[in-house]
Amino acid sequence: MTSAVLGDLRTLVLNADMQPLSWAPLSVLSWQDAFVAVMQERVIQLKTYEDVLVHSATRSHEVPAVVALKNYHKRRRVAFTRYHLFLRDEFRCQYCGNQFHAKDLTFDHVIPRSRNGASCWTNIVASCPADNLRKGNLTLEQSGMRLLRAPFEPTPHQLDAIARRSMSIREDLHRTWSDFLYWDSELEP
Ligand SMILES: [Zn+2]
Repeated sequence: MTSAVLGDLRTLVLNADMQPLSWAPLSVLSWQDAFVAVMQERVIQLKTYEDVLVHSATRSHEVPAVVALKNYHKRRRVAFTRYHLFLRDEFRCQYCGNQFHAKDLTFDHVIPRSRNGASCWTNIVASCPADNLRKGNLTLEQSGMRLLRAPFEPTPHQLDAIARRSMSIREDLHRTWSDFLYWDSELEP
């Protein structure tokens, strides 16, 4: 294993309930930070990378692949960010219902800013540029447009569920983590 590859390794961080501390984005540390946390006994090492060792002056150490917090970390409110908002709406325009890449999505104030509409979870939705333009400075009533659903402030749990659904198609997750990411996945009907 070359040092360049070693340098890129990340460590999955689980809460004390063995669920990822966060799914959106996935909670990871650089292996170096995780290694220090293990040494200081701040986290529990659950799994190490196979065939990867780092050498100190006196001995060699395994590199943590998955660690867990010792104490349950209670999660706070979801930060009001661009990514979280798109994720809440599942990258779907809330007017036409089509899905887009993040770069092709924009925001729409349901009550327009020109009418003192606030920039908050309950007044902003993901929108395609065409629908955003179509709605312009009109209210829903004036525009005759309808929302797929009323915008809401998501809980960490709700956002996790959405992120987890979309995670299965991502390829940048290390296979060492898969047991910890998927064993509790909700079963599809
Ligand atoms: Zn649209």
